[in-house]
Amino acid sequence: MPFPEILDAKPKVIFFTDFDGTITQQDTNDYITDEHGMGLKKRKVINDNILDGHDSFRDGFQKMIDSWKLSLTETIHILEQNITLDPYFKDFVVWARAHDVPIVVLSSGMVPVIAGLLKKLLGDDLMKDIEIIANETRLVPPGNSLDKRAAEGWNIKFHDDSSFGHDKSLAIRPYANAIAAMQDENSKPTLLYAGDGISDLSAARETDLLFAKEGRDLVTYCEREGIPFTTFKDWSSILEETKEIYEGKKSVRKIAEEGLVRHRTNSMNQPRPPPGTYHRKMSMSQQVAAEELRDAPE
Ligand SMILES: [Mg+2]
Repeated sequence: MPFPEILDAKPKVIFFTDFDGTITQQDTNDYITDEHGMGLKKRKVINDNILDGHDSFRDGFQKMIDSWKLSLTETIHILEQNITLDPYFKDFVVWARAHDVPIVVLSSGMVPVIAGLLKKLLGDDLMKDIEIIANETRLVPPGNSLDKRAAEGWNIKFHDDSSFGHDKSLAIRPYANAIAAMQDENSKPTLLYAGDGISDLSAARETDLLFAKEGRDLVTYCEREGIPFTTFKDWSSILEETKEIYEGKKSVRKIAEEGLVRHRTNSMNQPRPPPGTYHRKMSMSQQVAAEELRDAPE
């Protein structure tokens, strides 16, 4: 169900989520690049360039896909054999169905790959509940076919013009704006997001609470920039905390506070990256919030 129909159904919670490394245990694009493309070593160089701000996610990802030696059909088939879902994601989808909580996948991957994998790993029935917003594929000469290898028969068709290829905030913002305009505070749905990496930076600011995967780049970024977040190891903790929010037992603020304490306790001795690492512009209020958080006693 797309926007605005999702809001018309008056859900209490809307759950947006990343796909690779968040719903799945491995990153599908990294897997294909490492095993059937340029290989791990060259990919790491591109990843570092993206993190340092020397390359955009879009351009880096394009280089990786251009190195793939597979047709799209083979790509999906190989991923089906090698990629696994988070062991508790299915439980979350079942709970979400029973409680009318919409799930929207926002991915920097490609729709046919994600749809193919979810169909295989989750099944046709549960998959129907999940909306997928991601990049598409396009046919390119000389091959003009999904059955030819990448760059020779097909390529990625980016979702928008942003440096991310898919700016995930674009899908969330209409919800946030519509909710902000609602008169009745009690009928406002809570927007949640789960993610793990660089491609989630664009979405990180848009929701009420962000679930960031333990030990990943996104955690460091959220903490530094004062974005309300909590960490997760797998979807069992996401389900538990989403239930608490849904049932009104805990506020998102409370969960974010607990998450921050837990994260700081776990990572007391780890150095933080220097300011500017992620090259994101902040509004004045966001800068103030980030500085307060950075200067707060730990
Ligand atoms: Mg990811």
